[in-house]
Amino acid sequence: MAGIYIHIPLCRSRCVYCDFYSSTFDGNRSELVEAICAELTERRDYLREATVKTLYFGGGTPSLLRPDELSEIFSAVEANYPCAFEEVTLEANPDDLSDAFLTSLKRFPINRLSIGIQSFHDDDLTLLNRRHTAEEAKAAVRRCQSHGFTNISIDLIYGLPNQTLSAWEDNLRQAIELDVPHISAYHLTYEEGTKIYRMLQKGEVREVDEELSVEMFHLLRSMLQEAGIQQYEISNFARPGCHARHNSSYWDGTPYLGAGPAAHSFDGKDRRWNISNTRRYIEAIRSGEPYYELEVLDETSSYNDYVITSLRTIAGMDLDVLAERFGEPYYSYCLRQVRPFVGDGVAVVEENHVRLTEKGLFLSDAVMEELMMVENPE
Ligand code: SF4
Repeated sequence: MAGIYIHIPLCRSRCVYCDFYSSTFDGNRSELVEAICAELTERRDYLREATVKTLYFGGGTPSLLRPDELSEIFSAVEANYPCAFEEVTLEANPDDLSDAFLTSLKRFPINRLSIGIQSFHDDDLTLLNRRHTAEEAKAAVRRCQSHGFTNISIDLIYGLPNQTLSAWEDNLRQAIELDVPHISAYHLTYEEGTKIYRMLQKGEVREVDEELSVEMFHLLRSMLQEAGIQQYEISNFARPGCHARHNSSYWDGTPYLGAGPAAHSFDGKDRRWNISNTRRYIEAIRSGEPYYELEVLDETSSYNDYVITSLRTIAGMDLDVLAERFGEPYYSYCLRQVRPFVGDGVAVVEENHVRLTEKGLFLSDAVMEELMMVENPE
């Protein structure tokens, strides 16, 4: 089994918090689609004939693609890879989800929509430079449902400047009322290079304090749990059977091919990532020049990857898998490093798994850092 990710680096406007690679310039979009199709064709052996079960259009804003552009990409995927799609996701901005666009999507095997809503409060949306209002976002979700798209995920952000606990509670209540089976909720991070990072530096916005962040995370887990939407990863919550299959493959080591500028790929041994520059990507594909960087994963990097990806999940890190894949020295190192966190109530070791508690999930970066290894233990 394998997955394909297609990165569409187009946005109508830039949201202040976003550090994904995208551009508001779309003068070269037909060349971009052509280059993505050429990359898909050129790399047809990358997944070694594994059946592609998940396809994910991310971005950027894939909902800016026209049906003829989507059609070209689907043709390139289906012509070059054995496909038995179980999940085909399109990320979408609410204001692109018109009746006409949703009708056009029915021509394709797209069966999951991931909609960036972020907040149901217009003052937050204005601050974040989102293109839609809260009412428009809710209307878009209902429109998708009326067109038969039931497998919908919505994205929310918490820990926004000036956001109160009751405002976050109201966001969660409105999300639950939309009756979608999947919710991704991320704490705002101030990434260097983003506009909101500069606003923070200039004192135009303030970070929420840690106590409030912890309360927001607790409320997120408890309200969604009560609504039957269970946490399966730090930022992801789903009704039973509705977890994101494509994203889950990132956490369980399934190979995936990423096409398009800035897309990442993993074939089980190496990671590679395409250049984050659309013009250079197009030119390199056309001229046959390299357009990606490659990291060959040694045993320690693979162990570190396993720590990061498995601890993000509620299922946790399987110690049998750890011992089998990496051997005794890594197994012993991991157990030694995790011991203080167990004592502090941050992690538990049960049923031969290491799992993070609620406190641990909130502090996951610090725990992962301690469990990761700088060099081979032998
Ligand atoms: S959050 Fe989405 S719409 Fe906003 S700038 Fe980033 S990729 Fe574009």
